[in-house]
Amino acid sequence: MSRPATSTGNLRDLLAGGGRSYSFEFFPPRTEGGLRTLWRAVRRVEAVAPSFVSITYGAGGTSRAHTVAVTRRIAAETTLRPVAHLTAVAHSAVELRHVIGEYADAGVRDVLALRGDPPGDPRSHWSPHPDGFRYAYQLVELIRSCGEFTVGVAAFPERHPHSPDWDSDIRHFVAKCRAGADYAITQMFFHAEDYLRLRDRVRAAGCDIPIIPGIMPATDVRQIRRFAELSNAHFPADLARRLHAARDNPAVGHRIGVDQATALAQRLLDEGAPGLHYITLNRSTATLDIHRNLHGARPTAPSRAPERSSFSCVSP
Ligand code: FAD
Repeated sequence: MSRPATSTGNLRDLLAGGGRSYSFEFFPPRTEGGLRTLWRAVRRVEAVAPSFVSITYGAGGTSRAHTVAVTRRIAAETTLRPVAHLTAVAHSAVELRHVIGEYADAGVRDVLALRGDPPGDPRSHWSPHPDGFRYAYQLVELIRSCGEFTVGVAAFPERHPHSPDWDSDIRHFVAKCRAGADYAITQMFFHAEDYLRLRDRVRAAGCDIPIIPGIMPATDVRQIRRFAELSNAHFPADLARRLHAARDNPAVGHRIGVDQATALAQRLLDEGAPGLHYITLNRSTATLDIHRNLHGARPTAPSRAPERSSFSCVSP
């Protein structure tokens, strides 16, 4: 295993320095029960000292306040580095600047800049806020203008569902890098070749930012199929068959999903992937099992105290 990126210092420098990043993604719950589940998962993940944890931003901007609150609390009460997702959905540029200011105020210096999807059906027509942004690269530029932030962006191993062809998909991805993205995290996928092809295409286009594979263990066939449909990910027929056969036995389903994701993750690391980003759905057990399969029980990075950041946002 190569040197892991630590959660101390600057994420940009750590990734640029060739360290591997191991991270876990959570979503902001809306209920007290959901919040308790989230915090149990956060504390369990904290024990393996990941490079960062990320908190998603709700479709349609609806869970904006929840995302900011959870991110703020992780920064204040844990040793973890929070990466805040931010989308352009239903926000004017002024509102987006305000959210970035809230993150800065909480000491959060890492933002994942996303366009977001239309509220309701993510596959429906996307139209931007009249005073907002049409594409993620504009959000990258805004965050960059707001001070010392490390900025991540999204990447799609099976191409963005609305991209008409690979050439335009790669061209627009590279535009996000040129706008100032430091790294990317991919959409979930199931075939290592899809990731490797994307990485090679991006490199060939002259962009060498680290592209971290997004790993989502498929332990429940119904849930994952739905995610795969929404994200356009090609769900392997054989995996679906095995999970379907185990549908009344959650322990077997868990093992099938963890084993498949461990094999995928190992192959990606062997091929030089700069780390892994585990999608937890706020249930840490399966993703931690994968992480332990790959690394044993030892922490991957020393922990850190949250730092304050400077914020001086320039109007776009
Ligand atoms: P963009 O980079 O803007 O690309 C969107 C489409 O526009 C692509 O087809 C692209 O090729 C095209 N395009 C880009 N620039 C141009 C241009 N100049 N001219 C013409 N076409 C262009 N969604 C949420 O709501 N909340 C989240 O927290 C969230 N987290 C995510 C995390 C990860 C790791 C990933 C992979 C996705 C996440 N998403 C999230 C989903 C994401 O917002 C959607 O997939 C969205 O459709 C694409 O966002 P983007 O940032 O890649 O957009």
